[in-house]
Amino acid sequence: MSPRHFVIGSKNPKKAEEMQAILADCGVHIVTVGELRPDIESPEETGTTFQENAALKAMYFASATGHICIADDSGLEVDALNGAPGVYSSRFAGKDGDDEANNRKLLQELDGLPESKRGAQFRTVICLAVPGQIMLMAEGVVRGRILEAPQGEGGFGYDPLFFFPEFDATFAQVPAQKKALVSHRGKALAKLKCDIPSFINIFENRHNF
Ligand code: IMP
Repeated sequence: MSPRHFVIGSKNPKKAEEMQAILADCGVHIVTVGELRPDIESPEETGTTFQENAALKAMYFASATGHICIADDSGLEVDALNGAPGVYSSRFAGKDGDDEANNRKLLQELDGLPESKRGAQFRTVICLAVPGQIMLMAEGVVRGRILEAPQGEGGFGYDPLFFFPEFDATFAQVPAQKKALVSHRGKALAKLKCDIPSFINIFENRHNF
C-alpha cells in the first residue's frame, strides 16, 4: 500500500467527483472507487450516526481495495423535521439515491411552512482509513433554507432546494468550485487536508518507504 495513493470511497459519482476535485491539490494520487474497482458494491449503511457510517464505508473500501480510503457520510438536517432526514437522507423517499423522489417528499413535508421555519443544514463526517484502521475524522456543517420549488441544474441530491443566503442562490445554481468553498464537504475536507502531510510523514517513517 502506498501512502500517496488514496481512493474515494463513494459509489455516488457526483459526490465522488466533488471530493476528488477538492482534494486535487493535496499532493497525493486520488482515484474514485468507481474508477478503480467498478465491481465493488457499497456496504449497507447500518449505522445510526454519520460517524458510524463514514467509518464503516472508509474501512470497507480500504480493505476491499488495499488503499488508503477517504469516505464520507452526509445528509440534510431540517429544523422543522427535528433533524430528519439526517443519516437517512439518501433513502428519505424509500429507494436509495432517488434524488427527485427525495426532493418531492421534502417539499410535501414542508408544505405551507413560511420561510422563517424552513431552516436546514447539510452535515458530513469524513473518515480516512487504512485497511483495518481508522486514522482521521473531520466534520463539516453548512446552514441554509429549503425553497418551495427546486432551482438550478447542478450539484446532486437536495442541492436544487438548498438555498444559501450568502450566494443568493441554491447549491445547484453555483459552480462546484464555489459550492466547495462553503459546503459541509468542503469544510470537512479542508480540515482533513491539514492533517494529510503529517499522516503521510508518520506513515512513511514507520514503514521506511
Ligand atoms: P450518503 O451517500 O449515504 O452519505 O448519502 C448522502 C445523501 O445526503 C445524498 O444522497 C443526498 O441526498 C444528501 N446529500 C449529502 N450531501 C449533499 C450535498 O452536498 N448536496 C445535496 N445533497 C446532499
